[in-house]
Amino acid sequence: MKYLIRTYGCQMNVRDSEAVGALLDAAGHERVAEERDAELVIVNSCTVRDMAERKAIGKCGNLIAMKEGRGKGGETGKVKVVGLMGCAVKRMGADVFKSLPGLDFAVGPRRFGLIPRLVERCLAGERRILEVPDADEVPTGLDAHPDTSRGQSGFACFQSYVTVLLGCDNRCSYCIVPDVRGHEYSRPAREVVAEVAALASRGVREVCLLGQSVLRYGMRNKAWTEADAPSPGGYTEAFPRLLEALNGIDGLARIRFTSAHPKGCTDELVRAYREFPKACRHLHLPVQSGSDRVLAEMGRHYTRAEYLAAIAKLRAFDPEFAITTDIIVGYPGETEADFEETRSLMEEAGFDNAFVFKYSPRPGTRSAALPDDVPTEEKERRDQVLLADQQRRGLARNQKLIGTVREVLLEGPSLRNAARWSGRDSGNRIVVFEPTRKLAIGELVQVKITEAHPQILVGELA
Ligand code: SAH
Ligand code: SF4
Repeated sequence: MKYLIRTYGCQMNVRDSEAVGALLDAAGHERVAEERDAELVIVNSCTVRDMAERKAIGKCGNLIAMKEGRGKGGETGKVKVVGLMGCAVKRMGADVFKSLPGLDFAVGPRRFGLIPRLVERCLAGERRILEVPDADEVPTGLDAHPDTSRGQSGFACFQSYVTVLLGCDNRCSYCIVPDVRGHEYSRPAREVVAEVAALASRGVREVCLLGQSVLRYGMRNKAWTEADAPSPGGYTEAFPRLLEALNGIDGLARIRFTSAHPKGCTDELVRAYREFPKACRHLHLPVQSGSDRVLAEMGRHYTRAEYLAAIAKLRAFDPEFAITTDIIVGYPGETEADFEETRSLMEEAGFDNAFVFKYSPRPGTRSAALPDDVPTEEKERRDQVLLADQQRRGLARNQKLIGTVREVLLEGPSLRNAARWSGRDSGNRIVVFEPTRKLAIGELVQVKITEAHPQILVGELA
């Protein structure tokens, strides 16, 4: 069948969609680019915030309307089967068919490997098939080993996501992720190394290792076993040891990973950064709030001072080390004073970039029992204040890089201005420049920075 997967949400969803795409390809289905050409459409959903879930469910509703010949503006596609996968399915359970009566199948995390069989069953006439994992289901098959190294290329042909840690055990008060993604499960290191080596042999230059709290790799279940050769550098922690193994892979130029928790910023991690040049000088380290009171309520298990100490460690060995973050504004009971502490923390931390989210209560989480008492307009105001601060701060930080030479991995012509090329430096900063010679996607070039903007650097080929 001609199929298409529409993906909402985080990088892990992108990765899951790729893995499912690889399975569907192997089962003889054919990927198409346009919805109107697709006979099978799968929507990969997110539920981390209410709005994210509504987008995916709304999309699914439109596709079902098309399937049933009631498409907007008389739209008629070829779609025969509509499926929903991902986090929203786990949250909604059987209720998903109340919202979407025409849905053919719904499958939650850790059961994605079943999708080709579910498609077969739908083609045989079954409808409304529900596959929801138990809270502590051990992933098997594709879900435990989402190796797509022989399937679809990553988010670009020379970059690939690699899921290393599934689930989350942190249980932050506001967060639904542990409920929908289950307990932590670390893939065996040997398997991750083999997958990255296979990707590199196919021309992938950059991998991004994924996990909700990726530095907890190998903590709940062992990632390295006695059968693995000991770490040459004497690393005892599983994640730095993984970096050591990946750094040795020929052809691979860069290793990124996300997201991180400050508790994972250990001395061994810092040593790994220092010793392994392929590890990119960037960490996405969500802080959520600058107020110790709010951090404690959120169950984040660090204070403002501990957070700042973690980033100081990273910048001590490289002052240009890029730190990006996530912030939640309008958490229940967040006062103006709490908010001002977030503002001042962001200034002290000197973030290179920040994603600001307006608090949204999620069913079943601890904070959902608290009154959502910061008015919507006030959340919006706090959001805007932080974004304006960050624009200014981003510009100031980027201005300090004028005159420096950045090593840039080329992603291709810039989306905004095709006369320029674009890529990223080790700190994940976007760098654009005029291509004064023939260039190839995936090439590493040196660019001298001449101009700074809040979100991009402009330069010339050095
Ligand atoms: N595992 C990652 C975060 C995954 S969710 C980590 O802890 O680093 C991505 C971001 O969504 C979070 O960092 C948080 O800022 C935001 N988020 C999560 N739950 C939210 C909620 N209920 N309301 C608003 N934002 C939320
Ligand atoms: Fe959610 Fe916290 Fe786990 Fe991140 S670490 S996924 S915010 S519970």
